[in-house]
Amino acid sequence: MPYSCAKCDKQIEKQQGYEHQGKLYCEDCYMDILSPPKACDPWAVHSAQTFLKGKDKLSTLTPLQSKIVNYIKEKGEATAEEMIRNLDLTEEELRREFAVLRHMEILRATKRGDKVFYLLF
Ligand SMILES: [Zn+2]
Repeated sequence: MPYSCAKCDKQIEKQQGYEHQGKLYCEDCYMDILSPPKACDPWAVHSAQTFLKGKDKLSTLTPLQSKIVNYIKEKGEATAEEMIRNLDLTEEELRREFAVLRHMEILRATKRGDKVFYLLF
């Protein structure tokens, strides 16, 4: 009796599958489940929603986050490419920090034409 992955439907041998919350997954999907994408890092949401409630949000920023916020504050708005270039960031760093800042309701993004601008919340 063949089994298939609950996510991608690939056929797997029972003994090669991975069980997670009562479902069977192939190795790839199981790894996916264990390491969700950084953009929705649950820790970021958690810390933003519990520890920062009622506090001065800006005082809890890391130096890298402050750098991004200050840049946008100064410019009014900025594109990702511009910040990567001027702030010496990688795209991944920017994405990660933006996800945190977005959850903290400090920054937001808006789309205009085919460009995304980052601005203060
Ligand atoms: Zn799968």
